[in-house]
Amino acid sequence: MWKRKVSIKEQYGSLKHFLKGDEDCHYIGQRYIEGTNIFARREWRGVKDTSYAFYRWLVTWVKMGGLVARDPVRIVKAFFRYRWLSAYLIAPAMIDRWIEGDRGMALRCDLAAADCMISDSVDTLWASLRADRKLGETEWTDKTVAFDYTLPKHLIFGFPGTYAINMQQHAAFMLPLIRKELGSYYVDQAVSCGIPGDMCTLPLVETGVAVVGEYPDIGNFWMTTNNPCDANMMDNNAMYRELSANGKKAVHPLTTPLMYDDPTTKELGVHELYEAIEFMEQQFGRPFDWEAFREHLRATNQVNREELERWDIYARTDNGCLNAVLQGLFRIYFYQQGGTKYFAKTSPKLLKMFYECVEKDIKPFPKTRHRALAWSCGSTYYIQGVSWLYNCWGILCVINMDSLTGHNIIDTEDEEIMMEDLADWYSHTPMRTHTVGGNRHILQMFETAEKFNCDTIIMYDDIGCKGMAGAQGLLEEEFNKYRDRFHIIWMPHSLMDPRIVPPAEARRAVNQYMTDVLHEEPLDPTLVDFDDSMGW
Ligand code: SF4
Repeated sequence: MWKRKVSIKEQYGSLKHFLKGDEDCHYIGQRYIEGTNIFARREWRGVKDTSYAFYRWLVTWVKMGGLVARDPVRIVKAFFRYRWLSAYLIAPAMIDRWIEGDRGMALRCDLAAADCMISDSVDTLWASLRADRKLGETEWTDKTVAFDYTLPKHLIFGFPGTYAINMQQHAAFMLPLIRKELGSYYVDQAVSCGIPGDMCTLPLVETGVAVVGEYPDIGNFWMTTNNPCDANMMDNNAMYRELSANGKKAVHPLTTPLMYDDPTTKELGVHELYEAIEFMEQQFGRPFDWEAFREHLRATNQVNREELERWDIYARTDNGCLNAVLQGLFRIYFYQQGGTKYFAKTSPKLLKMFYECVEKDIKPFPKTRHRALAWSCGSTYYIQGVSWLYNCWGILCVINMDSLTGHNIIDTEDEEIMMEDLADWYSHTPMRTHTVGGNRHILQMFETAEKFNCDTIIMYDDIGCKGMAGAQGLLEEEFNKYRDRFHIIWMPHSLMDPRIVPPAEARRAVNQYMTDVLHEEPLDPTLVDFDDSMGW
């Protein structure tokens, strides 16, 4: 039975603070059911903010209900067929974790971004399930095709009326974000087939989904790529077998140069794009619609321009109002989807809120003590770790490495420049841009931290990422040159499998730095040391 550790009187002090939800300390840690990461009750944020958060929570349920209502029989069949789909049943709880501690403009901005991703996810899941042969062939089956999830799917917009699904995105990558232990199940499936268990857990989860045959069977081709790293390449065989239906479907590798800033690779990148377009023209039996494609690029450019304005606000002020979780996820999700209708609609709304905060000098994260840059690949199962950094220690991650990709504006007038810009875009996939595109890109962390006016660097230590592990000595050497300028804190994790590095271990590493090196007191003592090993 859950019991309050801090009384209401002690927490709020007065009725006014209770009604406004602006108490000094939120005591977030006491809301967890002992031993789990499950909240015993919803967060009280004062009357106004609690009502707003509850309303958005109901909207999420309605959207999820809308997915089932599109074809209840097919969706129920999908739930029995695909274990990963069950994760989405707790999407509202996932959003609650992402917004813990949020108040006022931060809450509104974060929930707008989350709502956009929920709407897009509902559409994407439906597009993939309605076309799935395993659930019964339909008119959508041939029109919906599979793309590797590290490839942005922009090219599909040159074939209006067809759809591309970034296959691993919802069926693999997103799983630990929602249910932290679900990635582990698929890791075990991959390892049981003989894939080495010491590999990065991200490709292991992708492979696990493939070996148990849980990717929907859609379209007639698989657009694959050379993936950002050696670990990811190890899953190519399993992915090929599953997504080409054992060689029955056409497969095209849209490869992109790893040394993307080498002038000699641009031509190759452009050539690859034309080849991919030609391949798709043959598959769909119709020509590429350049005007429809340009239209999509213009919409994507617009969201990117707005994103750059938001970065500018983050860099110059304390008025940015997306929290660290939503800032990162909104950005990376957009990178994959492009300026589709939900992003085109939500992005200006977010920007308006940012400017409102600037004009009225609202500081959405008033407890900030340190502004941080988060670098390297972050954990998925502890995505809310960045919220914990803020709520427990006042470390606000204003930007992270994976956000800083794919933001170049594409020229839509001159085809030659457009294709060069696009090739550049495709080569800057998440993880590839900084971690595997050459050591000099990893070391961009210092100038990036300066640009965003940070005094702290949270250095993610994914113990399965061989590329980053190989650079550890170099990094430590470089850190020594910057210790006077930045607090640099390693935060360990294992990307998709919390059994290897539990969230408590990541918190322990930060706690140790904050107490032993900086001698700081936590903002919320209930968050310093708690057991969340069980739960979702
Ligand atoms: S974390 Fe490292 S090893 Fe894993 S997919 Fe990313 S770049 Fe590859």
